[in-house]
Amino acid sequence: MLFLIKSNMNIIRRVFDIKGAPLLSGMFVLLFLAEGRRQLRKRNQPRLKRALINSLVSIPAFTLLRFLFLPVMIRLAFASRQKSLGLSHHYDAPPLVKGLVTFLILDHTNYLWHVLNHKLPMLWRFHLVHHTDPDLDVTTALRFHFGELIGSVFYRGPFVLLSGATALQVVVMKYYLKRQHSFIIATGSCLTGWKSN
Ligand SMILES: [Zn+2]
Repeated sequence: MLFLIKSNMNIIRRVFDIKGAPLLSGMFVLLFLAEGRRQLRKRNQPRLKRALINSLVSIPAFTLLRFLFLPVMIRLAFASRQKSLGLSHHYDAPPLVKGLVTFLILDHTNYLWHVLNHKLPMLWRFHLVHHTDPDLDVTTALRFHFGELIGSVFYRGPFVLLSGATALQVVVMKYYLKRQHSFIIATGSCLTGWKSN
């Protein structure tokens, strides 16, 4: 049992640390450079100052993501498999179909989490840190209050358990959501073909 938990935890290192984090960082740098060449609006703050502020804001949230969120989700995925709790353990289908169903559940519930962050005043107090950024660029994707990350552990945990997501799917999904968010923000802020000055 201990060995299985340990090998599941190694997925964080193999998939997120060694592959996901460098890919995410590389994409972040490319988008940051692209925004410098094709920006939509005149900025309120110098870019490097913004990058520094948003990076500092992101440190507690990213630390919790790596050392709290992912380990907890992987333990839940492990528990789901051990006790056959999740949906994916209760029907027969090719692994690709099961993976797609799990992806849709996690993606849609992630969207609902965002809606709740806007609707519930208690959650909005944390989420507004992201939306009160004086400018909009790829560094906005880093700007999250760590309280929001802690809240998401309680919200997303049951969906990982009940969907029957595997440890690998949990890590890949988190990477996908981070990448998607950065890309959407950067696309919205720079790919309009208009220069401010
Ligand atoms: Zn929002």
